[in-house]
Amino acid sequence: MTLFPEVCAAFTDSSILGRAQQKGLLEIHYHNIRDYSGDKHNRVDDYSYGGGPGMVMQPEPIYTCFEAICEQRGSRPKLFYMSPQGKPFAQEKAFELSKLDGFAILCGHYEGVDQRVIDILVDEEISIGDYVLTGGELAAMVVVDATIRLIDGVLSQPDCYLGESHMDGLLEYPQYTRPEIWRDIPVPEVLISGHHENVKKWRSQKSVETTQKKRPDMLDGDRSNIGE
Ligand code: SAH
Repeated sequence: MTLFPEVCAAFTDSSILGRAQQKGLLEIHYHNIRDYSGDKHNRVDDYSYGGGPGMVMQPEPIYTCFEAICEQRGSRPKLFYMSPQGKPFAQEKAFELSKLDGFAILCGHYEGVDQRVIDILVDEEISIGDYVLTGGELAAMVVVDATIRLIDGVLSQPDCYLGESHMDGLLEYPQYTRPEIWRDIPVPEVLISGHHENVKKWRSQKSVETTQKKRPDMLDGDRSNIGE
């Protein structure tokens, strides 16, 4: 649910996400909240009670938009509101969402959304970080992108994402491609040795080293593998 579906669709129709939809692995439906305005000028926002700058999105268009979604689906999907006040988004959440039988996202704009409609409709608020965007669209795209690549069949091989950063509480090992020697810098020898056991050992060691160096905080505490 957004006021700018075309911005989002341009992104999700391209590349891996576009192909995944063409292959029928998933469907993304955009609903323009303005279509549910019910106002002859198509208004969806108004001034904030109590004063202050900026406009607030009105509750009724959002409510009727969500009602229409529930009706079209024949069931009520879980509704997430993109918000800087939400729980910080992380890989674990993407994994959880990828297992759901669909979900809905509400993107706010301007100063945000009337609190009453959040209170009665929204199941969870999700933030993509401690900063404020002009709208929820980019944030929703982050969530959608991270989630879709975890759906079976979207990436070329089912285990493509398994060793990736954040899947097992570690960052990924460094990767190399052709040419074998580039500007006098060779690829680590073990990777061209053809010795699978050694490659595996090297990668897991590099994974720990990389995490130690770049994100020592990830090694503190007790983190379990996602999806186990
Ligand atoms: N006045 C609000 C911010 C509104 S920003 C406040 O101070 O809390 C406008 C919209 O952008 C929000 O409704 C939300 O949907 C989206 N948004 C802004 N920052 C975000 C973030 N960090 N993560 C997710 N959504 C965000």
